[in-house]
Amino acid sequence: MPPLRIRTFSHHCRERYGQTIGKIPLDLGIPCPNRNQGGCLYCHPASFTPFSLRPADSLAEQLRRGRHFLLRGRFRRYFAYFQQETPTALATDRLMPLLDSVLEDPDCVGLFLSTRPDAIAADLPAALAALVERSGKHCLIELGLQSIHTASLQLLNRNHDYADFLDAVRRIQAAGSLELGVHLILGIPGESQAAMLETVRTVTGLGIQALKLHHLQVIRGTGLHALYEQGQVPVFTLEGYLELLLELLPHIPAAVTLHRLWSTAHPDLLVAPRWQRLTGQLSQRLHRLMEGRDLWQGQQADLGGLLEERS
Ligand code: SF4
Repeated sequence: MPPLRIRTFSHHCRERYGQTIGKIPLDLGIPCPNRNQGGCLYCHPASFTPFSLRPADSLAEQLRRGRHFLLRGRFRRYFAYFQQETPTALATDRLMPLLDSVLEDPDCVGLFLSTRPDAIAADLPAALAALVERSGKHCLIELGLQSIHTASLQLLNRNHDYADFLDAVRRIQAAGSLELGVHLILGIPGESQAAMLETVRTVTGLGIQALKLHHLQVIRGTGLHALYEQGQVPVFTLEGYLELLLELLPHIPAAVTLHRLWSTAHPDLLVAPRWQRLTGQLSQRLHRLMEGRDLWQGQQADLGGLLEERS
């Protein structure tokens, strides 16, 4: 049997739930705390807000519209995806009833909470773990890290460091019952391929369940856009990015689900790179390249683990 080239989100869902599962983005209307410090250099909320999402709507209405416009009969079941801003900036005692209400729908299989490492309140992991155990559903916390390298975090104006991330990881994992994912950006100015590989290997060595890789995109009106106009932001060609993925993927353990391998943004807001390809086309091309070179996710990472076990 040929190896699984990439553990994609849809593969993971078919394995765990016996079917593919949709995602409905939801917005609690909580501004990200990092905006008070200028926000991340690359961030423009409109670039990742789906057209169907109206933040002023109640959660019930957001879910109704999400089911209508995004699931569209393709998926019966879904994850409630709190990806806008920093949802865990809301106090735990106010957040939990909202999450509880979303999980009441039998078609909702669980929660994705996308957040910052420094926005995991002391009481949050235990409260979420209790919710997971009570509901029998899943909860994946996605921590935005972007890079383990201090210079990169400073350049991006993340206003947290790698130690904050490790602290959040430790507390989330200690709570049990929670799954952990990490967002990384590839192509941060000044980072070599070796630096990116170091980030990927370090983070996936922490026992995480999910990873999102994004190529750096320049979005209109951001601080990154200003730097790009000054010629200070190299961006990937499509071929260059595919070659990078071919280098990195074998180092990612086979058990880690890759929720994303590239960024997407509204075409009106995207300055660069403009590859003019749909994500499905990118996936097909990557798979063909992996087959042609006989590469698969985990090829190097899992080999390293086996050698350590034997030594
Ligand atoms: S932490 Fe997230 S939402 Fe907040 S400014 Fe950065 S990228 Fe934007």
